[in-house]
Amino acid sequence: MPDNQETWKAALGIIELSISKANFNTWFKNTSITSIENNNITIGVPNGFAKEWLENKYQSYILSALKTLIPEVVSINCVISSSSQKSEDSEKKVPSENLNNRIEKPTSKINSNNQYNTVVSSYSSINNRIRLNSQYNFDTFIVGENNELAKAACHAVCENLGKIYNPLFIYGKVGLGKTHLLQSIGNYIKNNYPDKKIIYTTSEIFTGELIESIKNNKAAEFKKEYQKADLLIIDDVQFLSGKEKTQQEFFHIFNALYQLNKQIVISSDRPPKAIATLEERLRSRFEGGMIADVSEPDLETRMAILRTKTLEKNFYISDEVLRFVAKNIKNNVRELEGALNRIIAICDLYKKEPTIESVGNILSEIIESNKKTGVQNKDVIEVISEFYEVTNEDLMSKGRKKEIALARQVAMYLCRTELSMSYPGIGKYFGGRDHTTALHAYEKINKNLNTDEKLKRDVEYLQDKLYTVV
Ligand code: ADP
Ligand code: MG
Repeated sequence: MPDNQETWKAALGIIELSISKANFNTWFKNTSITSIENNNITIGVPNGFAKEWLENKYQSYILSALKTLIPEVVSINCVISSSSQKSEDSEKKVPSENLNNRIEKPTSKINSNNQYNTVVSSYSSINNRIRLNSQYNFDTFIVGENNELAKAACHAVCENLGKIYNPLFIYGKVGLGKTHLLQSIGNYIKNNYPDKKIIYTTSEIFTGELIESIKNNKAAEFKKEYQKADLLIIDDVQFLSGKEKTQQEFFHIFNALYQLNKQIVISSDRPPKAIATLEERLRSRFEGGMIADVSEPDLETRMAILRTKTLEKNFYISDEVLRFVAKNIKNNVRELEGALNRIIAICDLYKKEPTIESVGNILSEIIESNKKTGVQNKDVIEVISEFYEVTNEDLMSKGRKKEIALARQVAMYLCRTELSMSYPGIGKYFGGRDHTTALHAYEKINKNLNTDEKLKRDVEYLQDKLYTVV
């Protein structure tokens, strides 16, 4: 039976698969397993903040990761443990024992340089908002056709802070290197212009801090601190969507900095115009700067990334096996990296060689679920039913009540635009209707979108929603 520390290390390797690196480093640093008893695992965490987040937000990730290693586990809980506060040892790091595939090196570059500022329990000082992880820099970013423009724009911003491309808006789906690029800008400025004040935050952290500052009557101070920044980096701005109050505050900070020619860098999972509930004035501000996207890497870029990452992690995997991984994991770099972490964690834990066969087993779940990703017609039904407050049966029925008819037509429209279903296919799916009904629904909605502002917003909202339920 592997010991607690090894188990936790393997679990962390799996958890990294599913959450952003920034969040991973923020919430899982200095955590450890303190006991395993009666199928419950107790995790030691450094502070109450981490306890709350791990128990509330990451519970399911932790549990499912632990279950792949110890199937009997049924629950977890967190305790604030003093050893977690002091010890740096509990950080995930390369095990010291000699394993076949470990390349012998005293310590890996990444671990020895890891200066991630994870102190987030206090909102009082700007230093706590730097939150830069030195492992993200331009040198470790692999460039391919998919991210060339974004990388070049980030570079240009570093050389001309606040002078060109302001704001710089980077967008792309999850796991394609947005945070890596944003953090690289922060690190570059930190290293080359140490006097510049940098704030890196995510819109979720920003919202949390704002609420906290309002609670403590410190909203003015909060804003003032942000307005001191020379470089403000806001990651994952799409989460501001729908939060009016937060958007307002952010808008004021944004404007103040913008007018002083301070650099603002933003990332999002979609372009500004596709963030449905973004205040118009924010949207047009975002669109006023430079917008660059990152997309999925091709096979050769995926290979290059895997080679670099195995070197960084001091773990040897043959090219043949790497190619197998690159061919099977196509969606994004995080998944690719997660797969690699999983392979390394499991091969370490069970002292197994990574072969095509063993890696196929280790990754079977991911490979299977990748086949199934993407929006499906049942997702359309789900978001439509919830939004228009109609039932599945309503949508399938022949009923012509106005509200139901509209919901049904929008559903058909989305099946066409988002799923590329054929008109006969759509007709059949919606209670065995004729293909002309589906065609009519599509054409009607498509036409009305040009004139009906509310419909346009609703459809955009539903499109957003569709991709977040998947
Ligand atoms: P996003 O913010 O777009 O969701 P991240 O920046 O968190 O994605 O990237 C996910 C992981 O993949 C990170 O560990 C990051 O270092 C890595 N990564 C992404 N793109 C690249 C790249 N082009 N070269 C090297 N590593 C990359
Ligand atoms: Mg990110």
